[in-house]
Amino acid sequence: MNRTYPIWEQHCCLPLQSNASIAELLRYRRPEGSYVSVNVGYAPHTRADSTALVKSFAWQARVEYPEITPVSTILDVADVQRSGGIALAFDLEDSNPLDGDPDNIAYFYDLGVRSMLPTYNHVNAAGCGCLDAVDTGLTAYGRELVAEMNRVGMMVDGSHCSTRTGLDLAAATTRPMIYSHSNLRRLWEHPRNITDDQAKACADTGGVIGINGVGIFLGVNGPDDNKARLEAMADHIEEAVGLVGVDHVGIGSDYSFDAEDFLDEIHNHAASFSEAYTAWGPLQWVPPEDTLTLDVVLRRRGFDESSIEAIYGGNFARVAAEVWSTGR
Ligand SMILES: [Zn+2]
Repeated sequence: MNRTYPIWEQHCCLPLQSNASIAELLRYRRPEGSYVSVNVGYAPHTRADSTALVKSFAWQARVEYPEITPVSTILDVADVQRSGGIALAFDLEDSNPLDGDPDNIAYFYDLGVRSMLPTYNHVNAAGCGCLDAVDTGLTAYGRELVAEMNRVGMMVDGSHCSTRTGLDLAAATTRPMIYSHSNLRRLWEHPRNITDDQAKACADTGGVIGINGVGIFLGVNGPDDNKARLEAMADHIEEAVGLVGVDHVGIGSDYSFDAEDFLDEIHNHAASFSEAYTAWGPLQWVPPEDTLTLDVVLRRRGFDESSIEAIYGGNFARVAAEVWSTGR
């Protein structure tokens, strides 16, 4: 008998335009229910920009898509999943949308943002990014953000940060941290992938590493390599389980629902990226339909049911239960 489980997708991307439709999120629908975290801003965005995005996406869910429900608490997530729906929350991929004010962490939390990474690829006021040549780690302001995220109940995310910033986040946080969408450098040498030390430090906080399905971070970016890309995603999951244990691995596919839009982002905001993003041609992703078959792939590789359930969503749900506020 093949069982299936609710999936927890810790990071995916709609076009970063407030008129973008959330209809594509219906691709995560499954009888067991889903949780999906959608990006609502990174380095180029202000508080006003990210506010417009999160309000538009949440409004569409409330008014136009009864299958998609914005959630506040882990109990909300369980309720939505029990009814076979898609639980929706949001994440920030840089601290720039805070407009320099840590009080905006509580502001965005109230709008449904449940995780934030401080630095997208390049140095900012909070710390260094994974594409910086010099890595001085988390700043005093970055530590202030971690303290406020811990207080408010927002998950601290190390994806896109530099190695030292990631290690500093693990040392600074008093709650479990996550890498929402990061693969392993031990399998594919890429600056966006994390070192063994980063993975272990994250696990030591009780946290979870979400393995992504981005071709250039998996090392399988051919346009016709969909099957190999899914297997590479499973390779990173398997390797991460061997490195940090099955309780610390999850899924954050980073799927971009409009590839053209993301390729435009790379072009229009070139300062946020580098050759590390363009050297392998147009980016390819593991689509939701394939991500939703990872249980089959893992079962074939010999994973037991409790491990599949944990990787599929149980681990991120555990961290959310520990970190998110319960009283909202
Ligand atoms: Zn990202």
